[in-house]
Amino acid sequence: KTGHGPVGQNKKHVAGAKKVIAVSSCKGGVGKSTVSVNLAFALKNLGLKVGLLDADIYGPSMPMLLNQRGAKPGATPEKKILPIDAYGIPFISFGLFINEKDPVIWRGPMLGGVLNQFLFDVAWEGLDYLIIDLPPGTGDMQLSMIQATDIDGAIVVSTPQEVAILDSKKGLNMFNQVKVPVLGMVENMSYFVPDDNTSKKYFIFGEGGVKKAAEELNVNLLAEIPLEIALREGSDQGKPYMNEKKYEGRPVWNAYMQLAK
Ligand code: ADP
Repeated sequence: KTGHGPVGQNKKHVAGAKKVIAVSSCKGGVGKSTVSVNLAFALKNLGLKVGLLDADIYGPSMPMLLNQRGAKPGATPEKKILPIDAYGIPFISFGLFINEKDPVIWRGPMLGGVLNQFLFDVAWEGLDYLIIDLPPGTGDMQLSMIQATDIDGAIVVSTPQEVAILDSKKGLNMFNQVKVPVLGMVENMSYFVPDDNTSKKYFIFGEGGVKKAAEELNVNLLAEIPLEIALREGSDQGKPYMNEKKYEGRPVWNAYMQLAK
């Protein structure tokens, strides 16, 4: 069945999800997974039903971020994979199907089949949004992942320091090539907010790097997400920041709610 995306032709619609959003980055370590997870909870905070798909085969961090390491997904009678529930968000991760100690190189041959299963054989149900955390980079593997799928929009995450016009351009080109609309860029780690003084901004990695790149490349800058210790701690503890109402109103919280809207 072809979907509702801009170019239906060979793209398969992910059953059970009204909209599919892909989160990508040109480099690793810029906060792509953190953004995927917290965007999902920000959308949930708006009353939407959201699912998460961790397709980052190099560093599937979602089981840790959602405190579900070692969880074993079940199957439906129709042999579809049942997503794991994490704080009201159904998710599935490549990391749940591999031995974390296996070298990355063994994962290659498994990819084709497993990724297809991930995208089309998971029993998603009644989702307003499915957020896909893509592997970092713009290679053939990423391309083949996104070209078979009916993706409604893509987000490119960068940090002010790591953003490079050439890389970002490659990222945008990858999505253009397969007719996936780019919603815009997200600047992560924009500035530091001390816990005791949320009005003072420290631009540790320089100011406005991604904004400049977005302007140059003619794409939207969707949000500037500050650095905050509690965000990193929450991730390490498997307690997503945007699921903790106590952070409501803080700069990181506000940036994610702006992104969700
Ligand atoms: P990627 O998915 O791009 O490899 P991660 O999401 O795993 O990157 O983030 C890398 C590290 O940076 C993690 O330890 C994460 O907790 C931390 N991190 C990401 N964004 C922020 C932020 N805005 N403030 C503080 N720590 C962050």
